[in-house]
Amino acid sequence: MDERLQYAPCGYVSITHEGIVIDVNQTFLAIMGYSRANLVDNHFESIMSTANKLIFHTYFYPFINLNGHVEEMFLSLKDHKGLAIPFLLNGRRFEKEGVEIIDCILMQMGKRIDYEVEIRTAKRQIEEAYWEKDQALVKLEQLHMEIEQKQQELMELNANLVKLSVTDKLTGLKNRRFFEEKLEDQMILYSQTGQPFSLYIVDIDHFKKVNDTWGHPMGDSVLAKLAEVLQSHVRKGDIVARYGGEEFVLILPNMDAAESKIRAEELRLTVASSTWETGQITVSIGIATFIQMDSDITLLKKADLALYASKENGRNRVTHFTDMNK
Ligand code: GH3
Ligand code: MG
Ligand code: MG
Repeated sequence: MDERLQYAPCGYVSITHEGIVIDVNQTFLAIMGYSRANLVDNHFESIMSTANKLIFHTYFYPFINLNGHVEEMFLSLKDHKGLAIPFLLNGRRFEKEGVEIIDCILMQMGKRIDYEVEIRTAKRQIEEAYWEKDQALVKLEQLHMEIEQKQQELMELNANLVKLSVTDKLTGLKNRRFFEEKLEDQMILYSQTGQPFSLYIVDIDHFKKVNDTWGHPMGDSVLAKLAEVLQSHVRKGDIVARYGGEEFVLILPNMDAAESKIRAEELRLTVASSTWETGQITVSIGIATFIQMDSDITLLKKADLALYASKENGRNRVTHFTDMNK
């Protein structure tokens, strides 16, 4: 064998079609720790594990027979100590004087295997990192959901608090604070649109007597029932509030003086003709309809004066401020 082939930078093994080693170069012998005598005239498969023999038979021979060559076949061969040395094998069929020879070159793959191990380790680490990232994301999503739920609860709680802060506990009607806010809104609307609106103050007649005769709890239930009567009598959008004690206030948007008197009269009649456990209950009503010069204070004052007139004139009656001096 040519000296340069002897020491070529790859293993060289020449075998017969039956796999008997005919020739082998020095590089391969050095890698494997064999002598020429160990290999020449022996079967190439004698330095293969059973698994590698199987690969050799199912891959190497069929390919050589079919194509005349094999490329980049991965194979482990046992060295003189029985250690598996990985190789990449290229083989080619060669005919010389009617005899078939297969030349094989073998590149040792130690370094490449090391790289593969490193790549595989890195890949596993990346997969682990991805898994951890996914877990963290799931946790983050859970936390996000919890926060949203808490926020929702907080909003409901706030809404409830707001409701409580504008509600009269005994009657369930809106309270004085709410009334004052709405009155302000209504005045702003008036300044923008000139839309008329009216205000009622409704006061139970001789309510002290109800308490004195029937007791305070019965007085309370009269207040609650009157609240229901008022609420069921008004239009959608009208505001009914408990102003304090046995006095109620109503804001009636888009209602002029003439209509306000008719509706108040109906309301008065409804109360007087309702059935009460305490015997008849009546109310006196004072009305004021907002005019340009009014403020919330003057409007309330006018309604209060009108209410006073209703009381003075015998109670269970309706007085509009503009009719007071007639
Ligand atoms: P008038 O016809 O002049 O309005 O006579 P009145 O007795 O209704 O008026 P007065 O202001 O003299 O008495 C109001 C009474 O309303 C006195 C008070 O004890 C009672 N009152 C105020 N708030 C409540 C309440 O929340 N529950 C009960 N049961 N009574 C109340
Ligand atoms: Mg009163
Ligand atoms: Mg009263």
